[in-house]
Amino acid sequence: MKFARIAAVTGANKGIGYAIVRNIALKYSKSPLNTGPLLIYLTARNKSRGENAVASIMEDAELRNALVQHGGLTEVKFHPLDITNQSSIDGFVSFLKRNHPDGIDVVINNAGILRDDFDLHTVKDTLASNYYGTLNATKALLPIIREHGRLVNMSSLMARLSLYPDTIATKFRTATSIAEVNSLVEEYVSAVAGGRHERDGWPNSSYAVSKAGVTSITKVFAAEERAKHSSVLINSCCPGYVATDLTKGAGWRKPDHGAKTPVMLALEDIGGRSGKFWQNGRVRNW
Ligand code: NDP
Repeated sequence: MKFARIAAVTGANKGIGYAIVRNIALKYSKSPLNTGPLLIYLTARNKSRGENAVASIMEDAELRNALVQHGGLTEVKFHPLDITNQSSIDGFVSFLKRNHPDGIDVVINNAGILRDDFDLHTVKDTLASNYYGTLNATKALLPIIREHGRLVNMSSLMARLSLYPDTIATKFRTATSIAEVNSLVEEYVSAVAGGRHERDGWPNSSYAVSKAGVTSITKVFAAEERAKHSSVLINSCCPGYVATDLTKGAGWRKPDHGAKTPVMLALEDIGGRSGKFWQNGRVRNW
């Protein structure tokens, strides 16, 4: 089949990422992006977990009914992708370029981790996945997103800048380059390594810092695209508090509910807004 649109979701073997793939497939037929058949790459770092997720999505009764009604417009395929591994990112991008030389349309950077413990090792791991992983995937995938495409980064309300003193919050809010955000994130790592992060006003949560970094780079990437007169829209969002493995089942939303805002940002008319932070379908102050 020749696909008119191509989408990719990271960390999609379970939780909100899985629900995002499912809901893109369910809602695509009514999207203004719908110009013909859609192929969604459900990506995961583990092959069998990814393949099982694709098998289970294709057996989903609600999805099958919707696809039958809309003439089987959507197909879901697995592709391996570990966002902490640059050669895995590069391999996926080469694959996409080879198979979809005209470009792709939607990327949702959903993969992320949350650790309970707090030490330098955990801080580095969390930043490697949530911040640098999202940054490197965005850097590699954004250039192959074609006109009117969308890129969505999963952030969190934990990214809110009220957690920080003005000196740090202002740097996150006003950063105009990726290098500035990188150095802010590295300032945090040094403060943790030196045992002075609390004195300097940083939180005891590398997750919060990683997501503040994600929201900040989303704004920077969006501004860079605007400067190039590109029509690609880049936004970040919080899915709400969702019951997944990451929250140990403690959230009050189901993954399908958590998928609503990211899927809206990927498929719906959002009035051309880009570089914003969204929750519950609305732009929020960050
Ligand atoms: P889950 O733990 O259920 O799922 C996380 C997914 O990310 C898994 O598929 C996991 O794969 C994958 N992943 C982790 N590291 C990597 C990596 N290096 N490369 C590729 N995939 C990776 O979490 P959620 O579904 O709850 O979270 C999804 C996103 O939403 C995250 O970014 C999270 O921070 C964000 N979020 C979640 C909230 C919530 O309440 N649940 C609230 C705010 C934000 P594997 O199975 O192999 O571990």
